[in-house]
Amino acid sequence: MEYSESLEKAGEYARSAFSLMESKAIPATPNNFAVWFVYCSHRYPDLTRALDKLLKENEEFTEARNAEIFDQFFTFSHEGTAAADAAEKMGSELANILAYLDAAGDDTAEYGRFLESITGKVAGSGSVSDFKALIADALSATRSMEGQTRGFQEKLAVSSREISQLKQDLEDMRLEAMTDALTAIPNRKLFDIQLRQSANEAVKDEEELCLLMVDIDHFKKFNDTYGHQVGDQVLKLLGSTLTACIKGQDTAARYGGEEFAIILPRTSLKDALTVAENIRRAVGTKRVVNRTTGEDLGTITVSIGAGRFEYGEPVSQLISRADEALYMAKHNGRDRVVSQDQVRDAALNA
Ligand code: GH3
Ligand code: MG
Ligand code: MG
Repeated sequence: MEYSESLEKAGEYARSAFSLMESKAIPATPNNFAVWFVYCSHRYPDLTRALDKLLKENEEFTEARNAEIFDQFFTFSHEGTAAADAAEKMGSELANILAYLDAAGDDTAEYGRFLESITGKVAGSGSVSDFKALIADALSATRSMEGQTRGFQEKLAVSSREISQLKQDLEDMRLEAMTDALTAIPNRKLFDIQLRQSANEAVKDEEELCLLMVDIDHFKKFNDTYGHQVGDQVLKLLGSTLTACIKGQDTAARYGGEEFAIILPRTSLKDALTVAENIRRAVGTKRVVNRTTGEDLGTITVSIGAGRFEYGEPVSQLISRADEALYMAKHNGRDRVVSQDQVRDAALNA
């Protein structure tokens, strides 16, 4: 039965979390419990790594430190209170489960003792009617035990459903926290995580990995001419255009302001330049229309820099190379794609 297995696990995680917290003198608040429950479940590798490090370094879990850990992994700006609520509910559901499990354990032990006492009486019973009475007692105790077990199972099923819902809510909030509110594409936070992960996978699978940095040309002037709101519409249009130009394994994210970044796993620099050129052309041919007035505002252009990941380098270096290529694209007249190799060649010829 899947649910009882996950419940057993939940009980196991909860017990480990409590004993760990006890050994580290961490107060058993719902927030702390949520942190250590997730730690014991190994569900979020980032959280596991961070806490392993603190444990290894024998860090003291002060109130401030505990709050900081919770904030880092469970609070997402304005969703903070909702996440805290969910964590608190999850904590109290788990406390319920532990109470049910304990109560069920007590009842089972009592039932066992009763059966043992019956066995003793059976050995000493003289008449058939004594024997029948004992069997009747045993049967009725067994039925009542069955009833109680069913009652526990129902309670546990309700708790289990509640926890699944809370887990889903937390997951939804996590996703929301990693999505850019304006363009509805991944934000910088998700980009950072994804790029690090893609770099690790590239090394592991011995695959290439490329990065494009995309920046709107003369966007300040566009904003100054048509207003910030129309500028925002352009950012949304660009977000959807970039998403339409990439495939499943790729990630297009809003890097910040009017700058976007595209992660291209398993892609050579040559292919990345083709993707970049497609994007440049797709953006340049889309007409920007003022939604309020219907006025045709012409087109916008973008400059793109392309970089290729070198095994072993920090991803910040890959970002820097793509940025340098972007800078060169701007310098060379905008509305163009420049590769890191062109930057290197220019430096060699200088
Ligand atoms: P360049 O071709 O060199 O990139 O010129 P630029 O004007 O695009 O670059 P600059 O860095 O001077 O200006 C960027 C502008 O992007 C400034 C700001 O008005 C605009 N911008 C940044 N974020 C947003 C946003 O969220 N909404 C809107 N509407 N505009 C934004
Ligand atoms: Mg710009
Ligand atoms: Mg810019």
